[in-house]
Parts: sequence; structure tokens; C-alpha cells
Amino acid sequence: MEDFKKLRELMVEQQLIPRGIKDERVLKAMETVPRHLFVGDAFPERAYDDCALPIGEGQTISQPYMVAVMTELLELKGDEKVLEIGTGSGYQGAVLSLLAAEVFTVERIETIALKTQERFRRFKYTNIYVVVGDGTLGLPEQAPFDGIIVTAAAPQIPDTYIKQLKVGGRLVIPVGSRFSQMLYQVRKTPSGITTSASTPCVFVPLIGKYGWDETEAQYPAY
Ligand code: SAM
Repeated sequence: MEDFKKLRELMVEQQLIPRGIKDERVLKAMETVPRHLFVGDAFPERAYDDCALPIGEGQTISQPYMVAVMTELLELKGDEKVLEIGTGSGYQGAVLSLLAAEVFTVERIETIALKTQERFRRFKYTNIYVVVGDGTLGLPEQAPFDGIIVTAAAPQIPDTYIKQLKVGGRLVIPVGSRFSQMLYQVRKTPSGITTSASTPCVFVPLIGKYGWDETEAQYPAY
């Protein structure tokens, strides 16, 4: 039987702090959320490894470091309304739920969305709401958001997200080609947006009206 609490502490000490994650609230949330309960039956013993893992349907649960970087770039204080695009396993959503007031998460693959919704219910994450649909449209009925986090790779920044951010709000999104991207933090200002590059990354494609076309999308190696 693995000591998952110990593995989480090691994950924070060895993978996150040395690579520059500083936000104490983010580190605490990563130390708290039981990642092994989100990876599916096949991989609990690999849950705290320094890599992404498959979750079925050709999709992945992101590397712990990537979850931490993206969460830190949202600059959450606790009272925010956040939109996540790409629910996947629900792990990123669970981390966000400890750091914000409300989290809305959109997933295009219904089987994944339903499984994860049940997981949130079972583990009592009560401030996360799962929506099935094309997340490139954002979630206009719940806008505006303090933060929007996109956990799939976009060919460019969809304007829908900028429109649905509050002034001062942050969008965190991987943008680039199908097989390699740069992670950006985009801040909405009274006069437009400012954009800063964070780290290179590789995500599965954001497929939808303002993302990649499904027929073109092939999955990267991880
Ligand atoms: N955040 C997830 C987690 O914590 O496990 C990882 C997400 S996985 C890397 C990317 C997810 O984005 C996949 O589940 C995929 O089906 C979903 N996705 C891709 N395009 C989408 C879209 N247009 N709208 C909503 N979800 C989308």
C-alpha cells in the first residue's frame, strides 16, 4: 500500500518548489488533493510521477508541474469565479476548487464529463460544476469570470475568452502548433490585453469551433 500523503509531499518538494512554484496556497492545494483518486484504476501507483498520464479516450491528466504553473498564473485569492476548459479527470478542477469560490468546467466528451461529475460528487467537491459542450465558446451564461484556464492546446487565443473575462481577469492558455505550444498568461486591461509567455508545453488539442478541426486533430505522444 502506497503512502500517498508522503508521495504528495515529495511531489511538492521535488517537482514544484525547485522549478519555481512559489504561491503557498497553490503548493498547499497540490499537497492536499488526492491525485491518485483522479488517475483511474490503472495508474494509482504512478499518480505522483513527474509526467502526464492517459485517462482514456486519447486524453490525459496533465503533469503535476503543469497543473501548478497554470494554477499559479491564475493568481487566485479565494473569492473568484473560474472557468476551466477541458475537465478531463477533474484533477485540475479539484485543485482550483480549493483556491476559488466557484469553478465551472466544460468538457466536450460526454463520457469523460459524466464520469468526472460523479467523481466530484463522490469526493464532495461541491463548488465545481461540469458542463458538456464545446469549450471554445466559453460559457457565456456564467460570464464574466475572474480567471479562465484552458487545459488543451489552441491554435490561437479565441476571442470568446477575452470577452468573457472581467477587466483585471487572467486567461491561462497553451497556444501553438498541434505538437508543441507555449503557455501564456493573458490579462484583460481597461484598454485591451497584455500577454506574457510562461513555459513551453505539449497538450492534447482543443477541438471545436474556435480551436482545431476534429478531422485534422491527431494526438501527441503524451
Ligand atoms: N484538466 C484535465 C485534468 O485535470 O485531468 C486535463 C485535460 S486534458 C489534457 C484535455 C481535455 O480537454 C480532454 O478531456 C479533452 O476532451 C478536452 N477538450 C478538448 N477540446 C475541448 C473543447 N472544445 N471543449 C471542452 N473540452 C475540450
